[in-house]
Amino acid sequence: MQNDTKKEIVLSGIRPTGYLHLGNYFGAMRNYVRMQEDYNCYFFVADWHSLTTHPDTKELRNSVHRVIAENLACGLDPDKAAIYVQSDVPEIAELYLYLNMLAYKGELEKVPTFKDKVRLSPDNVNAGLLTYPVLMAADILIHRAVKVPVGKDQEQHLEMARNFAERFNHRYGDVFPMPRAFNFNSDLVKIMSLDGKGKMSKSENQMATIYLSDSDELILKKLKKATTDQGPTEAGQPKPDFIQNLFTLASLVSEPAVSEKFEADYNNCQIRYGDFKKQLGEDMARFVGPIRDKALAIQEDKVYLEKIMKQGAEKARQSASQTIKIVREAMGIKY
Ligand code: ATP
Ligand code: MG
Repeated sequence: MQNDTKKEIVLSGIRPTGYLHLGNYFGAMRNYVRMQEDYNCYFFVADWHSLTTHPDTKELRNSVHRVIAENLACGLDPDKAAIYVQSDVPEIAELYLYLNMLAYKGELEKVPTFKDKVRLSPDNVNAGLLTYPVLMAADILIHRAVKVPVGKDQEQHLEMARNFAERFNHRYGDVFPMPRAFNFNSDLVKIMSLDGKGKMSKSENQMATIYLSDSDELILKKLKKATTDQGPTEAGQPKPDFIQNLFTLASLVSEPAVSEKFEADYNNCQIRYGDFKKQLGEDMARFVGPIRDKALAIQEDKVYLEKIMKQGAEKARQSASQTIKIVREAMGIKY
């Protein structure tokens, strides 16, 4: 399919730093699958970004393949969205270079995610880490995207992308539209980890996170270990967060009748968490199983994967090279 220029441009990336999980699925990928119908979507694997914190590249190829395979298995369609790897689009690096001249050390040092990372790994405070928001701005502006699905933690980076775009426009002429945060669903779901400590995550709480690559047995085992309490003692008692999370998960993966039954049991103080977790585990395994199996099959089919990555890179470079041409002209880099 040709890119439809009348559709608004959506851009989102994911770092190949670990295994994708149910939080990524319900918080991000499920929405991407819907967005690809109505928007001109660019979804990329942010391999350059992962180098800021994961300089060891032994697992990189596998991780990149897995992220693409899992996204395809979840329903992203390479004929609708451009699905590509960041490093396949060198125009991004060129734009990053120009934007770096418009980004100030002081403002970059103030970014909370930078400060967090400095605290976590004081021995690897590299310039790439400092300029992460500039690369992110280049990722977005290279397609002149206006809608960027981001979580709360990314809102400040997006504001910086707008600042860089504005500075560029001010100095060299109107090239970039302003990118805005985009929540397809106003009610963004957040999936907590099964131990109730924080959210499901690629890099933390691994035994309390359900990964799209988990076997049925592992899913059942993780569910069995999910944190519960003594149970409600009064009818209609409010649920603690970690119990609510199990009900949220049930509403996403179980039949409505199942959720309703356990909801009623909870409200009557009759709930047996063992039964609830067993049922939820089975429903979750039924939900994750087909995605896992499909992702695995795609991941093993290197010829298909290469074809998808090539097709995505071509689409992305088509749009990126147009932007770079306009950027160079605006800047007077044209001899
Ligand atoms: P890391 O631990 O490396 O930060 P992560 O699991 O937080 O990984 P990200 O790559 O930071 O994953 O996020 C990818 C997308 O998934 C983002 O849109 C983010 O908002 C969403 N997301 C991540 N975790 C959850 C969660 N537990 N619930 C809902 N959405 C989530
Ligand atoms: Mg995160």
